[in-house]
Amino acid sequence: MNIQAAPDPIQKIALMAENAAFESAGDAPQHERPYQSRSLADCITNVSTPKGKKPVLKSMITTACEKNCFYCPFRAGRSKTKRVTITPDQMAKAFDDLQRAKIADGIFLSSGIIKGGTTTQDKIIDTIEIIRRKYGYRGYVHLKVMPGSEYDQLARAMQLADRVSINLEAPTQERLHALAPKKDFAADLLQRIQWAHEIKQKTGARASIVTQFVVGAVGDTDLELLSVTEKLHRQMSLARAYFSAFSPVIQTPLENVMATLPERERRLYQASFLVRDYNWSVEELNFTGTGNLPLDVDPKKAWADANLTNNPVDLRTAERAQLLRVPGIGPKGAEAILKARMQGKITELVDLRKIGIAAPENAAPYVLIGGKRPPMQERLF
Ligand code: SF4
Repeated sequence: MNIQAAPDPIQKIALMAENAAFESAGDAPQHERPYQSRSLADCITNVSTPKGKKPVLKSMITTACEKNCFYCPFRAGRSKTKRVTITPDQMAKAFDDLQRAKIADGIFLSSGIIKGGTTTQDKIIDTIEIIRRKYGYRGYVHLKVMPGSEYDQLARAMQLADRVSINLEAPTQERLHALAPKKDFAADLLQRIQWAHEIKQKTGARASIVTQFVVGAVGDTDLELLSVTEKLHRQMSLARAYFSAFSPVIQTPLENVMATLPERERRLYQASFLVRDYNWSVEELNFTGTGNLPLDVDPKKAWADANLTNNPVDLRTAERAQLLRVPGIGPKGAEAILKARMQGKITELVDLRKIGIAAPENAAPYVLIGGKRPPMQERLF
């Protein structure tokens, strides 16, 4: 497709490319950094969907907003932001063109808020109704849920979409107030996660529920972020939390606040996967005195250093849950060990590699094989 000769709605989408730097659509965190360029290519991002990686169009209904979140380039009154608005018909047609041209296969749709959350949510839903009904698109759709949207709108969004984002932005009301003073933590955000959970339970809606946090701008700690995430995973069907390291935007109230180190974001993801996928409790993680994860060590390794160095796990007898505590052994690796040892195939550390465990050396300091520590030379292979 010749983008120079593209119709007006596609040019509008390109003008909104700044959105791609700030909204989490399930793509790699490093793609979520502010940048200056604005082209259509910046609106297409690779996202892991239930049907594999797809080039997803990431866009907005409008870059105008009546709210004033302190970190956001679209906040009301910021003159550097070019305000662009597209109608649901235009957006749906543009997406159909991009999808037929094989430029995009999937859409993540968000919006600034104009005339309240309900009106804005209607426009997002209308767009996807058109994409699904008029253009017959059955592929991947990820929708943002607006603060102030209604229960029925959320239910409809969850029928139409594969994934809905209800972004908490901060772990507590106090932190949210410092980031986004016009949003109410309980009434605007948590309430909608609760509704989404109810809708999923009652209707079996297939849409997964995700949330996002802006990390590190207002004193929020990893302990706070992971504690709220743990509750949402256990009690509210949360599929995933995205952690977006704060990066200051000029002409916003937080423009002089230091950017958060990307390493902090990485440690938060590692810890949240332990909570979500390995059923760890946040209390088991190792935090510094400031309530943050140490930056210089993987959280699973930090736990193993403290708990397994003198109390290693025997690969021939340990239960699955114990195996999962060992660095280098994930859910697939634990299953493979359980199967292989029934056939007597775990006799030395190198056998782990034969059954698909990529880095047995990471497990070496924390394991026994048949009651014995693996010999040093085996640990170093
Ligand atoms: S509601 Fe807040 S985060 Fe969302 S677009 Fe408006 S100012 Fe930005």
